[in-house]
Amino acid sequence: MEVEEASEQLSEHFWVKDMIQTSYGQMYIDLNKKFAMQPENNKQLKKLCTELEKIRQFALNNGYMLQITSGVRCPELNKKLEPNSSKTSQHLNASAADMIFVKNGISSKEGLKLIYKALYSNNPAERIQGIGRDKTFSQVIIERNKNSIWLHCAIFDDKYIANRRVKYGNHWAEKTEYRYSPNGQANNCPFLNDISDLDKI
Ligand SMILES: [Zn+2]
Repeated sequence: MEVEEASEQLSEHFWVKDMIQTSYGQMYIDLNKKFAMQPENNKQLKKLCTELEKIRQFALNNGYMLQITSGVRCPELNKKLEPNSSKTSQHLNASAADMIFVKNGISSKEGLKLIYKALYSNNPAERIQGIGRDKTFSQVIIERNKNSIWLHCAIFDDKYIANRRVKYGNHWAEKTEYRYSPNGQANNCPFLNDISDLDKI
């Protein structure tokens, strides 16, 4: 079987360097890089970035620059983040990225809401082209802490699906989780089932 070679370019505009940033220092950036260059992880990142390209273009058309603030999280970094890290985070599977939408050099909450609505809407005319309402992403979550607000987007992976099956039994549906996390944790935060809830954020 031929294995596709890992590469630093993940999609037209996204590179490994965009996906390995962390404020915990160069040692963890280097470990993240090693992690991102492992063939399976690299392949998964390429799948993720293919979808992020569509969001990027939509954002750009509306005057916002998509900026990735966090991508992969190697096991060493996740350990370092304990107890604030989740063992089932899709950042650990190279399947998730956190992003902000920048206008005039500033992270825009309005831009973030605009993108979220376009991902959430059932109306094809409002949606981002090529992104399915429920099949493309496993999770679309608005996360925030005291200082910032960002969007977490993840694509399906085997670990996530297995974990979900345990959580929801065999009648689980492969469906996008749209959630809002007021404390930056992607797990067990409320579902955003009504788009008007966005106005309260
Ligand atoms: Zn995240």
